[in-house]
Parts: sequence; C-alpha cells; structure tokens
Amino acid sequence: MNPETLLRLVRKNILSLAPYSTARDEYKGSIGIFLDANENPFDNGYNRYPDPRQSELKEIISQIKGIPVQQIFVGNGSDEAIDLCLRIFCEPRTDNIVTITPTYGMYRVAADINNVEVREVQLNDDFTLPTDKILASCDKNTKLIFLCSPNNPTGNSFSIEDVRRLTECFSGIVVIDEAYIDFSSHQSATMMLDEYENLIVLQTLSKAYGLAALRMGLAFAQKDIIDIFSNVKYPYNINSAGMERAKELLKRDVKAEISLLISERERLSHRLAEIEGIKHVYPSDANFLLVKSDNARLLYERLIKENIIVRDRSQVKGCEGCLRITVGTPQENNRLLEALGRCM
Ligand code: PMP
Repeated sequence: MNPETLLRLVRKNILSLAPYSTARDEYKGSIGIFLDANENPFDNGYNRYPDPRQSELKEIISQIKGIPVQQIFVGNGSDEAIDLCLRIFCEPRTDNIVTITPTYGMYRVAADINNVEVREVQLNDDFTLPTDKILASCDKNTKLIFLCSPNNPTGNSFSIEDVRRLTECFSGIVVIDEAYIDFSSHQSATMMLDEYENLIVLQTLSKAYGLAALRMGLAFAQKDIIDIFSNVKYPYNINSAGMERAKELLKRDVKAEISLLISERERLSHRLAEIEGIKHVYPSDANFLLVKSDNARLLYERLIKENIIVRDRSQVKGCEGCLRITVGTPQENNRLLEALGRCM
C-alpha cells in the first residue's frame, strides 16, 4: 500500500506500534533444547507455544485458495478479523463505518465495542446494493465499508461490478465478507486483490469446510495490510490443537458436500415454495434460505415443538415475516418439510 494511504487510513498508534516479539519469533533455526519461552519442558503434546505465524496452516490455505501466504491472515473466527479491522483503522469516537442493513450483526457489535459510529444503508427492495446511497453516507471520517456477499440473512450475492465501483470510488477500505462464497455461483472478490490496495476479503473455515468449532477465520488483502493484522493480533491467537486438526481436516475434499448442500438448497427452495402459508422463498447463493410466511413467529414456535430450530429474522427491518433456515442433511430437510406440513 502506498505509504501516504497507510498514513491516512491506519490509526497513528497502530502505525507506530512496536509489536510484541515472541521467543519463537526471535529464533527460527532448528534446535533441540528450548529454554527460551518459560514453558514446561515435559512433553504432553501441548507444552510448547504454537507457531505465532501459523506458517504450515497458511501454506495449506494458500494452496487451496490460490493466494500467496503473505496475503493471508488467520484469526480466531472471522469475528477476530472483523474486530481487527475496527481496531486498526477506526479512531474511537471520531471515525465511522458504513454498512448495509439487513446484514450480519457482528459489524455493528464490533463497532459498538470499539466506540465507532455505524451508518447503516438499507438494501434496495430486491436486496441489491444501493451503491450511490452507500457512497453518499461516507464522509472524511468513514474508514471502512462493510459488505457481506452472499449476504446474511438475505442470501443473495452482490454484483462484482457494484463491489468494484465502491472500491474504486471510496477512499477508505472496503471489507467484503465472503463467509458463504463456496456455496455461491459468483466469483470471489479475491481475484481483485492485486488491483485494489483498499480491499480486504474475509472468508472462514466455519461453513463450507465444516470447521466452525475450530474457529478459523481468514482475511485476504495486500501484504501491507496483512502485516498490520499480524502486528495487532494476540501473538498466539490460533492454538496448536486447532491448527493440527485444521491441517488434517483440510485434506478432505469438501466438493461433494458443497454440491449436495447446493442441490438440497434448490430442492428445499422449490418444496418450501409449494407450502401453503409460505409467501416467498428468496433465491439464495448461500447454505440457508430466507423464507417469508404469513406468521413467522408462530411458525418458529411450532417448529420448536417439532424439535427443529430455525432463525427468526421477522423483527429485522427489510426481513419482516421472514425465517432464515439453514440447509441441513437430506434427512434433516425432509424432517423440516414434514414438520412444516403439520405446522401450517
Ligand atoms: N460472517 C458472516 C456473514 C457470518 O454469517 C458468520 C457466522 N454466522 C461469520 C462471519 C462468522 O464466522 P466465523 O465462524 O469465522 O467467526
């Protein structure tokens, strides 16, 4: 990133930060006796601190995603990356972020925790991106625009042209959260990383890769931004047990699971649309469906009695009357359809 842009966008205290240097950062050779980190020397598998740079894990992610290791940050879930964006770029009580609504709730929560103003722009009625309104909401203190594509909870992807336009017209950073990208027919914005120094793409191993319990969120950006993420994160943000399991489980090919979930999404979408009382099933590019019904709350409660929990989004502006239903296994989806038949 151009040094002037860094100076303009990154908080001064972060730019001048002397990051904590771990014992394992300071010595990189291969050595037999480690008396440098005040660890317990008796081997139980976990007595040594983990690799603070997650080099081996990043190597695997780099191969899967086709993105150089220097452009990858691994966090304790994407939520860590979202929080780091706020902490790195936004001066509390001065700067602001612009985001859309409805969308994933953590952008607001992270901003509220960091005492940063949130400006929300309502999506168009068809859930497309109101790019002009987003740009009009930005001022000189807007450091970040948060987008989510495919968007949670609406399920649609935004057009790459709209994302490109925002990234070109906005002088701050565009963060695009692609937690559900593996279920989408759209191309990932990671293909634009080399073009735009003000782009951060978030992904996660929690969804398509099935590793939600391990808490592995990813951020991709140009190297200068990733270097700052690495300076600001907790030194050992990813633990050894999680890293080992992720390295092992990333060897599995998840393509078949993803295709099954996509075909189940389409089947569920058609079957749900035929049920009386369901007014609309929105098209989805993710592993969930947004479903509008006559009485969402009642339906939600009836489904709980049937031992099925979905997400009630009916109080969210723009999602009135809607439930968000995650696509499950074929058996789970059949159970849902049967239960809905009884509930309606
Ligand atoms: N982004 C979006 C859009 C999400 O919906 C979620 C979780 N529901 C996350 C990020 C959080 O992902 P992680 O498990 O990596 O923290």
